[in-house]
Amino acid sequence: MGFFKTLDVETGNDNKSVELDENIEKIKCLIVGSGPAGYTAAIYAARANLKPVLIQGMEPGGQLTTTTEVDNFPGYPQGVTGPILMDDIKAQAERFGTDTRWGEVTSADLSSRPFKIIVDNKKQIEAESLIIATGATAKYLGLESEEKFKGSGVSACATCDGFFYKDKALAVVGGGDTAAEEATYLAGIASKVYLIVRKPFMRASKAMIERVEKTENIEVLYEHNTKEVTGTNVVTGVTLIKRMGEADEQEVKIDVDGFFLAIGHTPNSSIFAEYLDLDEVGYINTIPGSTKTNIPGVFAAGDIQDTTYRQAITAAGSGCMAALDAERFLGE
Ligand code: NDP
Repeated sequence: MGFFKTLDVETGNDNKSVELDENIEKIKCLIVGSGPAGYTAAIYAARANLKPVLIQGMEPGGQLTTTTEVDNFPGYPQGVTGPILMDDIKAQAERFGTDTRWGEVTSADLSSRPFKIIVDNKKQIEAESLIIATGATAKYLGLESEEKFKGSGVSACATCDGFFYKDKALAVVGGGDTAAEEATYLAGIASKVYLIVRKPFMRASKAMIERVEKTENIEVLYEHNTKEVTGTNVVTGVTLIKRMGEADEQEVKIDVDGFFLAIGHTPNSSIFAEYLDLDEVGYINTIPGSTKTNIPGVFAAGDIQDTTYRQAITAAGSGCMAALDAERFLGE
């Protein structure tokens, strides 16, 4: 067997000793990730008779399982909850024979084909093609209070959850393009948006900053950090720490009904990083107009390769593209 990049997913350390099953499973198409991209790839791959195996990863169903109502996925005129939507897409993939499995890819050798993948430090799979749909994980501040209100006032997705805050007051944390975009989007729904920026300036593009400044109901709170999200059952406010010069700080309380994080995402690409072309943040670079990576036979779909749209429907669309690309590759 070839060289394996073995990474302890909890510590990030290399070379964790592993005891592998002797039996190596050989398959045509392995899909890693169980969000809309992974399952849509599975629907197409299964219908093309590629007999896909799909490894679900640490968060089966992906980011959508942490949201409530999804009103913008075509085909659900009354809306649908994120978990039900994902169950539906999974059931559709399984209807055509997708083999979905619990587990996590813990190491990968993409140096030659077939690609050698290890699941849960044990199971060995050799795949003729690989579709990576491992997504990106929204960053949170790491506050206990933030964790407590996830799904009841704390969100990392304005397009998913903004709708619920019509004429309410909201806070958005972050100073990049996402924060600027989400603040202006939310300002069109909410009565007031506080944009909490930790530095004395925003790092967003000039055009985005101008949009924020021109939006009357956005108030930018520079040099503010979040101390705590407050409320009983739902969010009712945020306690901030305002920096006042070198050593001075002041506590500030604002009343809000929702608290949105826009401090970036972490692409889940570390297991494959050694082999693939990534951008400076860690997103997988694909050949424009396709899901092809720098390695023939390895394809990337969904948020792992998308820093622009990041929607369930665009992820699903690129999952479809990845399966079609894999099918063509295997047919060549
Ligand atoms: P960025 O990494 O660009 O920005 C993250 C922001 O969050 C920064 O302002 C950062 O502050 C702040 N932040 C990080 N950690 C904390 C923390 N613990 N507490 C408070 N604030 C914190 O991420 P984005 O998601 O905004 O953008 C990612 C990429 O996608 C960028 O390249 C961006 O340009 C691009 N993008 C483009 C869009 C467009 O063109 N329409 C739309 C959205 C994104 P600090 O500045 O102090 O480090």
